[in-house]
Amino acid sequence: MLTPMMQQYFEIKNQYKDYLLFYRLGDFYELFFEDAKTASRELELVLTGRDCGEEERAPMCGVPFHSAEGYIGKLVARGYKVAICEQLEDPSVAKGIVKRDVIRIVTPGTVIESGLLSEQKNNYLASVYFCEENIGVAFADVSTGVVSATAFGHDKRSNRLINELATYVPSEIIVNKDNKYLGNLISFFKERFGASVTTGEESRFELRKARERVYSQFPDEHFTETPHDISVQCAIGGLLDYIDETQKIDVSYISSLNVYSDGQYMELDINTRRNLELIETMRTKEKRGSLLWVLDRTKTAMGARMLRSWIELPLVDEKAIIKRQSAVKEFFNNFILRTELSELLKDVLDVERLTTKIAYRTANGKDLNAIAKTLDILPQVKYLLENCSSEDLKEIFEGLDTAEDLNKLICDAIDPEAPFSVREGGIIKTGYSADVDRLRNVKNNGTSLKAEIEMRERATTGIKNLKIGYNKVFGYYIEITNSFKHLVPETYIRKQTLSNCERYITDELKDMEAMILGASDRLASLEYELFSQICDKLDKNLSRIQKIGTTLAKLDVYLSLADVAARNSYICPEIDKSDVIKIYDGRHPVVEKFVSDSYFVPNDTELDTEFNRLALITGPNMAGKSTYMRQVALIVIMAQIGSFVPASSARIGIVDKVFTRVGASDDLASGQSTFMLEMNEVAYILSNATKRSLIVYDEIGRGTSTFDGMSIAKAVAEHTCDVICAKTLFATHYHELTDLENTNPGIVNYNIATKKRGDDITFLRKIIKGAADDSYGIEVAKLAGVPDKVIKRAKAVLAEIDSGSFKMNAPAKSAPQFDDGLISFDDVMENEISEELRKIDINTISPIEAMNELFRLKKMLK
Ligand code: ADP
Repeated sequence: MLTPMMQQYFEIKNQYKDYLLFYRLGDFYELFFEDAKTASRELELVLTGRDCGEEERAPMCGVPFHSAEGYIGKLVARGYKVAICEQLEDPSVAKGIVKRDVIRIVTPGTVIESGLLSEQKNNYLASVYFCEENIGVAFADVSTGVVSATAFGHDKRSNRLINELATYVPSEIIVNKDNKYLGNLISFFKERFGASVTTGEESRFELRKARERVYSQFPDEHFTETPHDISVQCAIGGLLDYIDETQKIDVSYISSLNVYSDGQYMELDINTRRNLELIETMRTKEKRGSLLWVLDRTKTAMGARMLRSWIELPLVDEKAIIKRQSAVKEFFNNFILRTELSELLKDVLDVERLTTKIAYRTANGKDLNAIAKTLDILPQVKYLLENCSSEDLKEIFEGLDTAEDLNKLICDAIDPEAPFSVREGGIIKTGYSADVDRLRNVKNNGTSLKAEIEMRERATTGIKNLKIGYNKVFGYYIEITNSFKHLVPETYIRKQTLSNCERYITDELKDMEAMILGASDRLASLEYELFSQICDKLDKNLSRIQKIGTTLAKLDVYLSLADVAARNSYICPEIDKSDVIKIYDGRHPVVEKFVSDSYFVPNDTELDTEFNRLALITGPNMAGKSTYMRQVALIVIMAQIGSFVPASSARIGIVDKVFTRVGASDDLASGQSTFMLEMNEVAYILSNATKRSLIVYDEIGRGTSTFDGMSIAKAVAEHTCDVICAKTLFATHYHELTDLENTNPGIVNYNIATKKRGDDITFLRKIIKGAADDSYGIEVAKLAGVPDKVIKRAKAVLAEIDSGSFKMNAPAKSAPQFDDGLISFDDVMENEISEELRKIDINTISPIEAMNELFRLKKMLK
């Protein structure tokens, strides 16, 4: 028969079968049975047992409640979901078994604890709603209270869905359906984003329920009856339902909703994001070396997160881009304003996440002080913005709520030295509440009363080292060392004997204790009550504080972009709706940071939809083709974020999508050949690019035979140029394609200048019109250190090919030292020995040294 506690445990556990149940028992969270085994394995905790009323003990392990956050974080990061079961009444007054229930479920996408989150990036929970017409997706950052959503049509390989998810990189995804087709996608999400995925959540997404929930959360939002809006509502509804279920609190702090449609942001597919290394590098996945790394000089966590999301979602609306650009320009031009504002922002704390703590009632006195510290700078910020003339900075100035009332509320009430705990007092400032002051007085007087009694007792007993101490078990006591035991008065009551002393109590001491402890307890609960009232007041104003957070984040991003522009000599690009991209002296924003010892060579670009549609770039490997093409894509993206760009001047006709086809990349359907993947990407570009797009093709057609590859490359170039008319940069090693310039008026040949002297080449890094006269493959191989002998042989083969006499596997006429095209071991030895012989200087070598050398060379031959 199970014990009552275990019965309660099972009642709760049965409702949370898929979760690790953290069951609160006093100062610990305990886990039982399979949960205990899992947790002890994952967290390296000792597995013990507990009597559960049955024959076998229940496997058990536990963690102290005050350090539970770290343990929960580890489990969640490994894909587990944790249900936190709390004691709902005070165990000291509860009759029978203490009431318990789950108060929150922590999952990868719903973490709010700042210690478990990265300051620099949002943590997204995504919901995906599949229906016949289309797919709706919604994303929420539960730690900041922001939701975004959109819907789009189906496409064959779910590219659009993958691209949307790649923009937000959610840590958790819930999906309404569960079928075989989804299986591949889901393993892709898991692998690519490390996301935890739950499928088959159909009932969460039901339209009527979803609609009701969405309108209750976002009453000002308006939705139509179009399939787009219906799917958006279902996706948001499913998302909110999941948040309700896991958070178990009123989530009205989630008040910001951004429903976007096609064409609101520049479209960047998953490969392009990766290839262009927008927020992390391709190989190491680190921020250093990415565009974000160059642009991020933000001072606040909120600013860092906003900049990241701007880079993830470049704009396409001319007005919106220019609005951002003008704000950056104003800060760029005003060094003093920029410096003063940046200084102020250093004091800004993460109020977006602090407000969430208020909503969850997990904020403490320190958190409120942090909010006040941030609010403190607002009047000064407003003052500094007063004379700004750019549209957005003017709007920020006019709309900035300096929240003096909230600041005063916190500053008047909360002690600047408030502790982490909210239950043990010390939070409320002296002077805020007469009751708190009175109780505190009693408590503090207790300290002087204690000193007074101690002095008096020493005098009356004559025991010089008599002292009054306190511990939780015995309360206040008088301690007397053994050497004075004989002087102890009869009125003292012995309580405890230690090796070198005795501890006593007296009636007077007991009275004092009752007064002090009574006052302490009452004080602690009164302070908690007042603190909760202040949190309630702040809770009613959360949207105001959230808005302040967003405004400060935006200022931070503008200041960062302006600062980066000034430090790196960027210029403000001209933005318009033309089909022209004209860049003078463009540089690669990241590569230029890494070539500090040599000079980064700037290059021009001219693309349009007329006679400069496709720039066909030839030239040796390592010349700088990839760098050049990426730099153009990055400059366009930077411009559409609202940033300045690395160039001497730039005109950017707004681009709707950027595509890159570079190198090999992985894909959802594993087992495909590199060539197949390459062709998938090409197919995706050809069917999605428009006249307004920018395409970068870096060497297509490599993964197949030369003639196949060349034919494909040629056909793709022609189609992109003639049918799609997109602005295209096309690097190829197929020299033959340079003839296209003669037949196709949209194609212009370019190459990267190289200087050849004898066998050696120098890269000049300058892009010039015209086809490269050679691909210099052999020279580059030499530069890379391929042995001379191989280089010589390659030249001979090339000469044969050029003269038309080349036959695969035929003995080479001009290179008799090769057998069937392979280098023999003897050849290599001979070569080495002759090299050694050449090194010997006959004029300086002594006879004995000469003998030794001869011996060594002979040994080599053996
Ligand atoms: P390719 O694509 O032609 O093989 P890359 O673009 O990879 O060549 O360039 C090779 C290296 O040359 C880069 O890593 C970079 O260090 C250097 N480089 C490229 N472009 C420039 C430039 N404009 N100025 C200075 N160095 C450059």
